[in-house]
Amino acid sequence: MSRDNPPRAAGGGKTGGSSAAEVPPIVKAEGLVKSYRSDGVPAEAVRGVDLCVERGEFVAVTGPSGAGKSTLLHLLGGLDKPDSGKLWLGGREVGGYSEARWAVLRRRSIGIVFQFFNLVSNLTVADNVELPALLAGSTPRQARESRAELLAELGLEGKEMSTPGELSGGEQQRVALARALVNHPSLLLADEPTGSLDSKGTKEVMRLLSRYHQRGQTILLVTHDARVASSADRVLSFFDGRIVDDATLGAGTRRGGGVADVLELKG
Ligand code: ADP
Repeated sequence: MSRDNPPRAAGGGKTGGSSAAEVPPIVKAEGLVKSYRSDGVPAEAVRGVDLCVERGEFVAVTGPSGAGKSTLLHLLGGLDKPDSGKLWLGGREVGGYSEARWAVLRRRSIGIVFQFFNLVSNLTVADNVELPALLAGSTPRQARESRAELLAELGLEGKEMSTPGELSGGEQQRVALARALVNHPSLLLADEPTGSLDSKGTKEVMRLLSRYHQRGQTILLVTHDARVASSADRVLSFFDGRIVDDATLGAGTRRGGGVADVLELKG
């Protein structure tokens, strides 16, 4: 464990942690390192990250561009492999997982939202949301019902037959959120989800993330925007590949404590 990022008390011990923890943390990482080669020279994007995220937390990872935030998120979602370090998701060590096993894990348990939505451009909104449900084993009827419920909740009724290109950025990101949530993932990873949105779209998406968090969704959000990060109840500051601060925000911004209200106040 690095000294500048001491493990949190809950879940920070061996695999499961101490007091609270018959239930393992959703995410536990020890000593994650990831380098890329740039012009043949290795450059460390993530330099030894220890992290523990408990169920129901809304964690923002913030810091300047190039700090390594997206690389960390990619490691946590199995989109990239660490050079060293260990990673447990829901108490299971996933370091040795094959691509295929990661794909199954993501399909069932990890929703991911990206800055540029990554929707399938030639499929309708409805198909974009139903597809991951079908791939995870839902019947067509279940997939249709889940899609209808989510699109209604996300204010997208009437857009089912549109294609992504016919929607605003904020609407596309809400479709991406529906797609990420359709299989009720244990963990939602969001990589700069407001990075290409205007202030209205940003507010909408953050309000929805807060709503799902209040219902118990565990969220890890990467953002360079401190204002967006302040919607979370815990903020990790990332700099030069390391966590340099780990702050739990006040009661007013905690789960069930009016995160959406705070956003409203901030305008
Ligand atoms: P952030 O998300 O904080 O902006 P990134 O994780 O995207 O930071 O990048 C961290 C560092 O790793 C940067 O120097 C970036 O150029 C480098 N990097 C990220 N992804 C790659 C890649 N696929 N190939 C080479 N270098 C990369």
